[in-house]
Amino acid sequence: MDMDTNLCWFCERNSPTAGSELKKRLYRLIQPRNAVVVKQLKYSMMLVDIPRCPTCARLHAKGRRAFWWPLAMGGIIGLPGAVPGLIIGGGLGLLIGYTWQKRILKKNTIKPASDTSLEAHPLLAGFLADGWQLSKPT
Ligand SMILES: [Zn+2]
Repeated sequence: MDMDTNLCWFCERNSPTAGSELKKRLYRLIQPRNAVVVKQLKYSMMLVDIPRCPTCARLHAKGRRAFWWPLAMGGIIGLPGAVPGLIIGGGLGLLIGYTWQKRILKKNTIKPASDTSLEAHPLLAGFLADGWQLSKPT
């Protein structure tokens, strides 16, 4: 254990506090006992508390809102245009939301709470090596 473990992994500046943890679900596929049965994905799930400081918790929540708002608005605006309207409105909303969220996190120089980002988290590395995954098996 090094000293850095006392710092929030996302910003590497503040100390993590209780109640600000990022609750992350991990999944692990359970191998079917009998290969003859109908193929069905079975997995176990586990909830991991990732230590986080209140500032990062707030920024992650803000980033999530920045992501979903334009998407929802795009969907509403595109709704009268039926399917093509939804695709255009939703697509534009997705693009705006994605860019906006990225800007918030970049401006504050904190790591995002996305799966791609969390793959590098030392706390999760052991679980990932053990066969756990960050997204639901499909
Ligand atoms: Zn932080």
